[in-house]
Amino acid sequence: MRILLQFPEGLKQKALEHAQVLEREGHEVFISASPTFGACDLALDEARNIKADKLIHFGHAEFHKVDFNVEYIPYFIDAPVAILEESLGHLDGLNTLGLCTTIQHIHQLDFVKRFYEKNGKKVIVGKPYGFAKQPGQILGCDIGSAASVDGIVDVHVYFGGGMFHPLGALLSTKKPFLAIEPFQNSVRFIDQFREIYRKRSRGRIMRSIDAKRIGVLASTKNGQHNLNLATIIKKRVESAGLSAGILVANTFDFTSLDNMLEFDAFVNTACPRIAIDDVDRTRKPLLSPNELMEVLRLKSEMKSTA
Ligand code: SF4
Repeated sequence: MRILLQFPEGLKQKALEHAQVLEREGHEVFISASPTFGACDLALDEARNIKADKLIHFGHAEFHKVDFNVEYIPYFIDAPVAILEESLGHLDGLNTLGLCTTIQHIHQLDFVKRFYEKNGKKVIVGKPYGFAKQPGQILGCDIGSAASVDGIVDVHVYFGGGMFHPLGALLSTKKPFLAIEPFQNSVRFIDQFREIYRKRSRGRIMRSIDAKRIGVLASTKNGQHNLNLATIIKKRVESAGLSAGILVANTFDFTSLDNMLEFDAFVNTACPRIAIDDVDRTRKPLLSPNELMEVLRLKSEMKSTA
């Protein structure tokens, strides 16, 4: 069988090792060298281009069904759990916990839940919206496991590596948010980032008030592709008397966007995290669709009061 292997950045170092195992089994094996951001970003074009019979995607669980033979090999990491003891000191008076993690640590969720229950806490594990598949699992674009329990918990507790995932959940919830990062040996409330991101968002909206030409980002990645939304946004911008162009790419290169000098602002319809994490990488404001709507609302308000 002809197989294309695809690894997220942290696992690319293992690519040859996996390729050689499959080659010894008699397969013809190729390795994708493109950047990989998630199972939303399957190397389908590459696989079709080299006429692969199968794509093996490492490190992520299935995002949605695609019209290709894809095998997902999730990668589980045992995070050190001794840090849970320390976290108890942060949870005094907070009795109902909403627990979430990433797919890499989902196998430890039950252990973490039982730990808190043994220590007198009530633990609620929410359900994802659909892109993430496991209760308690969050993705950068599916924070349902946290948001769905926001109304009934005293505090959210994220257990796992990195800040990418808890940040998305934080911005979609209102309750106190404790992030436990076992690899950094760090336990801290991250609530202050809500206000920081709200102010930054307001700043981008105000910087876009005079924009006349809007670039609408539309990704061709399987799980980020939303040409309908891009088209709706373009029409909405045009009906407000402004110009818009839909910009298509697989992975957006921010230097190339900067070279598109005609545009006064960009609006993102690809991975929703681009309009959170990458906003400082373009010279012109990079907005989410909601932020764009606020820009248009303010523009129309200014026009009617002029
Ligand atoms: S947050 Fe972005 S990169 Fe991550 S799975 Fe969702 S669309 Fe893909």
